[in-house]
Amino acid sequence: MKAVLDHIGIAVRDLNAALAFYRDGLGLEIEAPEDVISQSVRAYFVPVGNASLELLEATAPDSPIAKYVEKRGPGLHHITLRVEDLARALAQLKSRGARLIDEQPRPGAEGALVAFIHPSSAHGVLVELKQASSVVIDPSGVTRHRLGDLELISLHDGFFRLDGGSMFGVVPKPLWSAKAVPDERNRIRLAMRPLVVRGERTMIIDAGLGDKEDAKFCDIYGVDRAMHLDRSLADAGLSPEDIDIVVATHLHFDHAGGFTTRDASGRIRPRFPRARYIVRRGEWDDATHPHERNRASYRADNYAPLAEAGVLDLVDDDQTIMPGVRVHRTGGHNMHHQMVWMESAGRRAAFVGDLIPTTAHLPDAWIMGFDLYPMDTLAVKKAFVREALERRDLVYFEHDPVVAAGYLTEERGKRHVSPLQGPISTG
Ligand SMILES: [Zn+2]
Ligand SMILES: [Zn+2]
Repeated sequence: MKAVLDHIGIAVRDLNAALAFYRDGLGLEIEAPEDVISQSVRAYFVPVGNASLELLEATAPDSPIAKYVEKRGPGLHHITLRVEDLARALAQLKSRGARLIDEQPRPGAEGALVAFIHPSSAHGVLVELKQASSVVIDPSGVTRHRLGDLELISLHDGFFRLDGGSMFGVVPKPLWSAKAVPDERNRIRLAMRPLVVRGERTMIIDAGLGDKEDAKFCDIYGVDRAMHLDRSLADAGLSPEDIDIVVATHLHFDHAGGFTTRDASGRIRPRFPRARYIVRRGEWDDATHPHERNRASYRADNYAPLAEAGVLDLVDDDQTIMPGVRVHRTGGHNMHHQMVWMESAGRRAAFVGDLIPTTAHLPDAWIMGFDLYPMDTLAVKKAFVREALERRDLVYFEHDPVVAAGYLTEERGKRHVSPLQGPISTG
């Protein structure tokens, strides 16, 4: 059993004095604080190499940290070690008579599992063991989920790359680069994950990048076709002919590129031959009248042929597309960006598009620099996350390179995702 230091928790009495030492004296970077309302504590993570310090400040007199400081003074509170197999580590400790605070692993941050060991068994130190999330990605990129009468099938159209700074807006690089490692051109890897919804009809939300772009484009955007929507559809037992309805969150090329395809004669035509394409009217108007700020994201070949083929349905308002499936305008990313709510048998799932493109974008301030109306993104995201936490909604992350979908959790003020496990899931 190999254990690696994850972080060291330090209870502080006077945060400013602690910052004067760790930040000003030692010159360490302090991450934005995270409030853990249930524990009345505010946590400041301080990266130090491969591990972190975690400064813990009580925010109320009845906080466990306040009591700890009152009784023992400020100082070392706990150490957290990462292990590969937490259940095995606990069993091994128990068999040797260790006193466990948590007999079983319980859900922690970022899909991780955690358990505390009593200080009396760890020579006076409170020890937290943590097993990092180990999501197995199905090689085809297909994840199926049953939601009441609806079947949700997350597909994969490969990867592309965008500038990391642009993807995280005002968040400093030392913070975002810990979550999304940039390449030598400062780009981060993003997936494209269209979602098929099968119910009364068969629908697909967005369709990835498509195949119409040239080598220069593919180089600029680091297009990686390890996965492809055609193959992903086939793995899910579907073909383009099976799709009745295509819904666009918006018409940026990484969402609408796959709406059309070039046929053998070189003509561009709708990719899903039987489908009606549903696009927000305001988004259609913006895409067909681009300006200097959004022009690079709109490529007419992706959507103009839909109008010519007469397969376009422009919608003005939030509405039900088929039983259990509703589109809802979010704005923010662009004026008429929309998300899709799916609801059946009292359970809900949300396809949020570019409102929260990856799991790294869960903190309120982690908003793309690409967004035209970031303050709208902030307001809508806050309200969405609060509701998704309360209602335990399943959330799909269209651009996350690893996690297709999961349930949000908030622990000690930090937001995390418990990913859907395996290629097939229910509940
Ligand atoms: Zn977009
Ligand atoms: Zn996008």
